[in-house]
Amino acid sequence: MTDRLYYDNAYLFAFDCRVEAVQERADGLWARLDRTAFYPDSGGQPHDTGMLSACGIDAAVSDVQADASGDIWHRLDKVLPVGALARGTIDGARRMDHMRQHGGDHLLAGAIWERYKGVTIGLHTGSDTATIDVVMPDGRTRLEKQEIALLEDDVNARIQADVPVRCWFPGAVELAAMPMRKPPAVKELVRVVAYGDFETVACGGTHPSSSGQIGLFKILDVAPARGITRFTFMCGMRALRHYRACADSAGEACVLLSAPLDNLPAAVRALRERASALADENTGLKRAAMLVSLPELLAKALPLPAGGRVIAAELSAMDRETLRETASALAGNDGVIALIAARNGDGYALTFARGAGIATDMALLLRAAGVRGGGKPDFAQGSAPSAAPVEAAARMLLSGKP
Ligand SMILES: [Zn+2]
Repeated sequence: MTDRLYYDNAYLFAFDCRVEAVQERADGLWARLDRTAFYPDSGGQPHDTGMLSACGIDAAVSDVQADASGDIWHRLDKVLPVGALARGTIDGARRMDHMRQHGGDHLLAGAIWERYKGVTIGLHTGSDTATIDVVMPDGRTRLEKQEIALLEDDVNARIQADVPVRCWFPGAVELAAMPMRKPPAVKELVRVVAYGDFETVACGGTHPSSSGQIGLFKILDVAPARGITRFTFMCGMRALRHYRACADSAGEACVLLSAPLDNLPAAVRALRERASALADENTGLKRAAMLVSLPELLAKALPLPAGGRVIAAELSAMDRETLRETASALAGNDGVIALIAARNGDGYALTFARGAGIATDMALLLRAAGVRGGGKPDFAQGSAPSAAPVEAAARMLLSGKP
């Protein structure tokens, strides 16, 4: 079993070791060492990365995994000689970031247990955020805003208290007397971590030496996830960067809306209401303009060989509802076929409608003109990249094809 140096010193970022074995697998070269300070993926805490150097060769370590027997394997980009003495160098910034998030795991899990008796059943540190999954005693999967704020206060207060963090392997008697947050998952060689006197639990992970090193703590989200409650949070520089991004965005919005920060939501609501009112007004004006244009459109109707008249027109940009109303209004005249197109978004919306006394199927005509859409024999709608299908359909009708 590989000697895990990080158990005794989580700040050991450079160490000497011996290469005991090298394996070439489908996913790369893997080396086993006699001792390592590289942390493997486990307990929701991601693996370390860094360098392993031996015999003048610097091999990058991109992945670290523990096997079932407890040996730790390091994925390398270059082969190192078996038996060689090597120097391992860990990406300390990455490890420190992971320890801060993991420290946040512990303090948040402890606070949830203490305040609400929620039991943490899983945790995960991602590249942007960290999460813990919690079973709440009353089965609920959401928390009130005020409850979340209390947890943030608890965790930040415990960080600011800067209590020492201790990791060790207690004997059976000492272990049995400990106020553990939850029972250990293993029976032997139980490693315990204690954050002051407010979080004591079994854990094989790496931890900061004192709670103060976790830095700022912020919960971003509390949401249901497959029947349990998932807390998403950030610690340390991650939380600072997130706060900076939020403050920058809010500050810019305050300038744009000429509103103080505490009035920003009200200013946005007022803007949305104003935009909605203007959109309604705009729709009304377009409908009024449409009604005014109807006689002009009707005057341009061309007689069809089989009887009746056809109006083929590309109108100014309008919403589908107004376009539908325009076509319906034109088709309200006996013997009229209205083929109307208008720009809508990136393409064109088309509506074909027929008045009384016309037998041509509008849905069939729409598709014959190459338009994606459908409808009923007397009314059909669709979309096309251009308004050309209107002219194409009109030519078919005027030549008596459909
Ligand atoms: Zn831990």
